[in-house]
Amino acid sequence: METKKRKISIIGSTGSIGTQALEVIEKLQDKFEIIALAGGSNIELLRQQAEKFNPKFIYASKPLTISGIKTADSLEEICSNKENDIILVAVSGKIGLKPTLKAIENGIDIALANKETLVMAGDIVMKKARENGVKIIPVDSEHCAIHQCIKDISQVEKLIITASGGPFLHKSVEEMKKATVAQALAHPRWHMGKKITVDSATLMNKGLEIIEAHHLFGFDYDKIDVVVHPQSIVHSAIEYVDGSVIAQLGLPSMHIPIQYAITYPQRFEGIKSKSFSFADIARLDFEKPDFEKFPCIKLAYQAGRTGGTATACLNAANEEAVFAFLDGKIKLYNIYEITAEMMSQHRVIENPTIDEIFATDEDVRRKTREHINKLIQKVQL
Ligand code: MG
Repeated sequence: METKKRKISIIGSTGSIGTQALEVIEKLQDKFEIIALAGGSNIELLRQQAEKFNPKFIYASKPLTISGIKTADSLEEICSNKENDIILVAVSGKIGLKPTLKAIENGIDIALANKETLVMAGDIVMKKARENGVKIIPVDSEHCAIHQCIKDISQVEKLIITASGGPFLHKSVEEMKKATVAQALAHPRWHMGKKITVDSATLMNKGLEIIEAHHLFGFDYDKIDVVVHPQSIVHSAIEYVDGSVIAQLGLPSMHIPIQYAITYPQRFEGIKSKSFSFADIARLDFEKPDFEKFPCIKLAYQAGRTGGTATACLNAANEEAVFAFLDGKIKLYNIYEITAEMMSQHRVIENPTIDEIFATDEDVRRKTREHINKLIQKVQL
């Protein structure tokens, strides 16, 4: 049976998730029609993608014209185009939030790879999605795994999110304190953007994923567990009320969750590179996370339980601290200390509006940068 092509736009087509999504779409050419590609600063890559995939629209943060392809004025314009069946939000950072809300208001399903959307404004985003009958399919491998495991959510007792543990899992706290940028970026399992790779080294990434899971699946924080699993084969699991545990397994490749999210509820062979073999994997290890060594997870639970603007504060302070670490201004361990300090100073707004969330974001970022500058000056004296 000839099925209708799914019309898709990609916000963030030149990033790590976006480029892999286009690899998936190239394999499944007869299943998709691209409405729009939106990229950031990598204009040359966006040009190549547009010439290859021939979308109806492009959007770039810098001027870019390609003959025969219309230029959208904004991400919001792309996300208001009701021709879209689904929009893959693959940008990182707060820039993903407003376009996602726009797409939801227009009844367009979302394949969501942008963590900030839920960490900053999960209550608002999920409420809008319910009101507009919009599906939000997670691309993040852990949430995609849980999405695949759930048959009847009312019978699920808890969510079990796996964490690879990052490059410092079995290193001492002392070694972690001395970690260089290169060491923090040497993730043993996943190749991702720099910011998320540093978050994976501090395990803040897992913290942000707990908050994402809370919003996506509507579970209390007490019902969301984290387990360290260094092989990254079990991508996450759920436990039913009767004690039965269902996990989703696969080789660590982002192609699989991206493809799942953009083709859901169908499945295709697509880009699958090799068959899964339990015998080749041979063993799977699990251990409790060390909350003392990786206190960012505790901080995220705390922000999540506090709610309101606390998670937007956590996100903004952490991101500014990660940028300072990547610039060589602070040590890896300072990321936690700085974020915790900003959290303790923050006056939480309950049930914030989107504008209040953005104002919190701006305010916390400014305060975090000031705090970091003071720290640097102290060290230099
Ligand atoms: Mg993840």
